[in-house]
Amino acid sequence: MTNLLIFGPPGAGKGTQAGLIAEKYHLAHLSSGDILRAELSHGELGAKIKAFQDAGELVPDSLVIAMMEKAILDTRNGGFILDGFPRTIEQSKALDGFLEVNGMKLNAILNLELSEAEATERVLTRGKTSGRSDDNAETAKARFTVYHNQTAPILEHYKAQGKVINIDGRPSIEEVSQTIFNELDK
Ligand code: AMP
Repeated sequence: MTNLLIFGPPGAGKGTQAGLIAEKYHLAHLSSGDILRAELSHGELGAKIKAFQDAGELVPDSLVIAMMEKAILDTRNGGFILDGFPRTIEQSKALDGFLEVNGMKLNAILNLELSEAEATERVLTRGKTSGRSDDNAETAKARFTVYHNQTAPILEHYKAQGKVINIDGRPSIEEVSQTIFNELDK
């Protein structure tokens, strides 16, 4: 079974590419951002999540880990692509342990590379139509800081496992997805 992880800064195109990959390889697209946003309308918990998201801060590990483990189990070994999770060392350790206990593993980590300047521009363009309250200049800056400090270090952990495939995130959506498909079909 194919289990993938897509990695990269906010605005790199993780969600778009994960959607295309999921469709082509019949995988469940597990976006932590989407799963959290689905909770926003649910009372007190939703309000707490919204406050973290609007500040560009991470939602607490314990909550995200529990939600993502449930989502992974719900795929019933059908294969998945993780998008936006793990985002901290703590989350990646929890994921490793969880996958091992359940007899699963990650086959590859797709690392979408894009400079902060280009990624910020994309976030702001997306903000015009996404309806996401965190797609604005101020929150984007906070999300990049979090990415550099807490999320990017995870990549070293996966590099040590030899599973990281670097993908240039600058070309068009179609070109990037074609590059990814070629890598996955190798
Ligand atoms: P995204 O849709 O991936 O850009 O995520 C939007 C926001 O949801 C982030 O800025 C965080 O506030 C929250 N979020 C998404 N994924 C995670 C995660 N793995 N851990 C903590 N917070 C997350």
